[in-house]
Amino acid sequence: MKKILLISILLFTSLLFCAEKTTLEGNLITNGKKWFVKNENGFYILNLAPNEWFEDNEIELKADKKIKAIGDLKDKELFVTVLFIDNEICVIRDGQGKPLWTPQVEYTHKVDKSKCIGCALCVKACPVNAITMYKGKAVIDADKCINCKICVTGNDKFLGCPTSAISMVERTD
Ligand code: SF4
Ligand code: SF4
Repeated sequence: MKKILLISILLFTSLLFCAEKTTLEGNLITNGKKWFVKNENGFYILNLAPNEWFEDNEIELKADKKIKAIGDLKDKELFVTVLFIDNEICVIRDGQGKPLWTPQVEYTHKVDKSKCIGCALCVKACPVNAITMYKGKAVIDADKCINCKICVTGNDKFLGCPTSAISMVERTD
């Protein structure tokens, strides 16, 4: 796992400086389930890896630690790609926003084909390439979807599906 982390760091740092990212600095805070960062502008949710992933990689997350987090900011939630804890670099997602862990999600997203107009905007916006076009309609791969909701609510460049064709559904497998 440490080897994977090191390779990812090298790959990521080469991509890091090509992409425009938001950087947040402040103190780590937790409510026991989620992690937040607090600074002079308020609180931000940190979308990190599962706690077990940090344990496996011997990375200690502790309330009050000073951190710097770099990633994509959406509605006060930062999809963290790189985290600096006490100046130690920790890569969470690769340069394309793909998580370095296997997502364990109970929910995925589904396209209502009768509403989809085939604009393919969601395909470009999905950070993990979970959406493809098939016969002019968007199709979501439930195994790739990390439930980020960007295809529904959008990000800084995309307003979300223009026809509200995408919704969150419970996984049945
Ligand atoms: S953004 Fe909505 S309408 Fe456009 S391809 Fe995706 S699902 Fe279809
Ligand atoms: S919820 Fe996120 S990961 Fe899933 S299909 Fe939509 S944009 Fe992709």
